[in-house]
Amino acid sequence: SALTASALLQRLEQDDVHFLRLQFTDILGTTKNVEVPRSQFQKALSGDITFDGSAVEGFTRVEESDMLLSPDLSTFLIYPQFSREEGERGRVARLICDVTLPDGTPFDGDPRQVLRRQVLRAQQMGFEMFVGTEPEFFLFERTGDGRGTTVTHDKAGYFDLAPIDKGERIRREIVNKLLHMGFDIEAAHHEVAPGQHEIDFRYAPALEAADRIATFKFVVKRVALEYGLLASFLPKPIAGISGSGMHCHLSLFRNGVNAFADPGGDHGLSPTAMQFIAGLLEHAGGMTAITNPLVNSYKRLVPGFEAPVNVAWSTSNRSALIRIPAKRGASTRAEVRMPDPSCNPYLALAVMLAAGLDGIEQRLEPAPAIQRNIFKMTVREKRHHRVRELPTDLREALEELGKDDVIAGALGDHVLTHFVAAKKSEWQDYSATIHAWELDRYLDLI
Ligand code: GLN
Ligand code: MG
Ligand code: MG
Ligand code: MG
Repeated sequence: SALTASALLQRLEQDDVHFLRLQFTDILGTTKNVEVPRSQFQKALSGDITFDGSAVEGFTRVEESDMLLSPDLSTFLIYPQFSREEGERGRVARLICDVTLPDGTPFDGDPRQVLRRQVLRAQQMGFEMFVGTEPEFFLFERTGDGRGTTVTHDKAGYFDLAPIDKGERIRREIVNKLLHMGFDIEAAHHEVAPGQHEIDFRYAPALEAADRIATFKFVVKRVALEYGLLASFLPKPIAGISGSGMHCHLSLFRNGVNAFADPGGDHGLSPTAMQFIAGLLEHAGGMTAITNPLVNSYKRLVPGFEAPVNVAWSTSNRSALIRIPAKRGASTRAEVRMPDPSCNPYLALAVMLAAGLDGIEQRLEPAPAIQRNIFKMTVREKRHHRVRELPTDLREALEELGKDDVIAGALGDHVLTHFVAAKKSEWQDYSATIHAWELDRYLDLI
C-alpha cells in the first residue's frame, strides 16, 4: 500500500510528525539514519537528501562521496513513543531508503540493492520468496553507571510463564510497539537459556522481512533501555548455554501458490523445493561468512545447543542445518537454522535466495534427508550420507566465500571486496589478541 509523496506529506502533517528518519544499512549490517526536520520533508520525499558516503563503512572513496537517499515510500511508518520526554518533541517517522549515486543509478554497495537484485532474479524465474524470521536475543543487567554485563536478569527457561519470567513484561512491550508499527508478529516466548527471548515474525516478502529485522533490533534495544537493561543480539554471549540464532523460514510462491508443496512428492515436497534445498546445502559453506559474520558467531555453531554444525537437511530433527517443518500447503517451507541475528539481513537473505535459485537453475538434487540425530553419527556414516561440516571459524568461512562464485557473484564486487577486507582485519585483530582463556590455561603452567 505505497503512498504517493504528496499523500505522505499530508499524513506527516496530520500525525504531527516532527522528524523523519531516512534509514539505510551499511555493508556490515549497521542501521544508519539521517534525521531531517519538518522544513526538509518535501526535499526528503523527492529523494534530494545527500549524505557523505565516505563516512559510512565500506561505502565509497572520499573522491566520490556524495550519495543520495531515495526513500521507498511503501516502508513508511511512525515510531511509537519510547519515553515521555520524546513525546514532547513530536512524533518520529521512518522511511527506508535505497542509496543511489548523484545521477540516480542504484549504488552497488547498498545491501538493499544486493537483495533487490536477487528478488528480481527470482521474479524473472516466476517466483517470489517469502521469509519468516525467528530472532533470539538476551536481556542483560546493566551496572550502576550503565555499562552492559552478561548477567541475566531472570532464571526462567523455555516457554516458562510469569512470575519467573520477568522478561515477559518487557517482551510484551516490545511486541506491542512492533504491532503498533504495523509488524505482523506470530509469537513471542522465553527461550531455553535464562534471560533469552525470541520473537517470531509472520512471513513476508523478502525485502520487507529484511527491512523489519533492521528496525526490530533498534526497537528491542530501545525498550530494554527504558527498563535499564541491555538487549544483545550477540550470537554466543555466554559459554556453556544456548546462543542466539535467527532461523529463517524460506518459501517460494508462484502466482500466489506455494511452489514447495506437492502432495504427490517425496515428503510432500515439489521438485522445486528439493532443488532449492539442494542449492542451500551446496552453498552453505560459501554463505556462512554472511549469515554468521562475527568471530563470536562460530562459538554458537558447536554441538549441544540446537545450533547446526553439519550441512544436512531433515524433516524431523533439529540438529540439521535445514529442517522442513511438518506443515504443508501454503505453509510449506525450509527452515534455515545457521543464521544468527548479527548478520546483515539484506545480505543474508540475498545469499540464501541466490543459493536456492542456483539449485533450481542447475536442477541440483539434495542428498537424502537425515532423520536421526547427526551428532550421534560416526564419521563413516556421515561420509556415506554426504554430510559436510560448516566452517568452524570466521577465517575458514571467508575462505569458503572466496571459493563460491555463486555467492560472491550475488554480493557483487563492491560488497564482496569491502566485506572481506573488513572481516579479515577483524579476524587478524582477534588472532593477535591474548584472551583470558590463554592466561587461565597457560600462564602458571608453562
Ligand atoms: N538457540 C538455538 C540456536 O542457537 C535455537 C533454539 C530453538 O529455537 N529451538 O539456534
Ligand atoms: Mg522458534
Ligand atoms: Mg528459538
Ligand atoms: Mg526455529
